[in-house]
Amino acid sequence: MNIYLTLDYELYFGERTGSVENCIINPTKLLKEIADKHNIKLVQFVDVGFILRLEKFKNQFPQLESDYIAITTQIKTLYREGHDIQLHIHPHWEDCHYNGQKWEMNVSRYKLADFNKEQISDILHRYKRKLEELTSTNAPFTFRAGGWCIQPFEIVKEEFLKHGVMVDSSVFQKGHYQSEQYNYDFRNACMKSKWKFNLDPCKEEEGPFTEIPIGTIFNSPLFYWRLFLLGRINPYMHKPLGDGIPVSAPGQRFKLLTRWTHNTISIDGYNAALLERGLRQYQQLKKEELVVIGHPKSITRYGITALEKFISQNKEKHQFTTFREQRSQLI
Ligand SMILES: [Zn+2]
Repeated sequence: MNIYLTLDYELYFGERTGSVENCIINPTKLLKEIADKHNIKLVQFVDVGFILRLEKFKNQFPQLESDYIAITTQIKTLYREGHDIQLHIHPHWEDCHYNGQKWEMNVSRYKLADFNKEQISDILHRYKRKLEELTSTNAPFTFRAGGWCIQPFEIVKEEFLKHGVMVDSSVFQKGHYQSEQYNYDFRNACMKSKWKFNLDPCKEEEGPFTEIPIGTIFNSPLFYWRLFLLGRINPYMHKPLGDGIPVSAPGQRFKLLTRWTHNTISIDGYNAALLERGLRQYQQLKKEELVVIGHPKSITRYGITALEKFISQNKEKHQFTTFREQRSQLI
């Protein structure tokens, strides 16, 4: 099986974004150390909107200048050493400002669908160009939507085609969520591990795009009780390394704690305990690809250990790979 370890490389978007050092740079270093040790490559879905915001304000604020340098240096190093750098868009950065102390977050336009056609075109153009600049190629061709808000895809289709963004990895089968700010509904998604699509990433049909969905696992509420309790009982091992607060997702915690839910196969926090089980289920289903998601900001010391164990146990049996390495198979 092809296993892709994908990380959404970003800050938190809540009341407190956390620092670049603790949410991005340091945890990414830890993840890279493990990957290097086992000679495997990682995929970073880079939140480019944030980098452009840093670039815009860096001359006014020394902190942002050093954040900009730290991030762009790390991305260039990752790419040079063979890791994959792909496109992650959180367009709400267009509306966020730095007040000299902290980022003032405005997430009222959280998804691309909240912008008009010209704005979407401009965002995609600038964001992709920035990634090309950092990787010195026109390499980025895979997309992950911020907050998984890939729907409706029709409105971005033409722009994706124009910019050669031909692969998406935003869908996770059976997942769905609806709030004022964001929503996704993958309950009717194709159940394969990879498929072609045209107007709807959930639907397999003849078209120019490839969906390679994030792995899904069906979890009991008991798992989340354990996850939340461990964070309280043993924060050293189970508290995320990032120092920010997530954007609010009303009702989400209650849902997780009270019913069985479909969730992503993830490196984040205690979720890393389920990596092996997720892989076994995918093998039983005879799937050929497994995309694991993670966020440097949300990993824990426990998660790092569990990830390393997962890699050690599986690197001979499976192929840890990247979109960059699989490009000819995907486009
Ligand atoms: Zn994100």
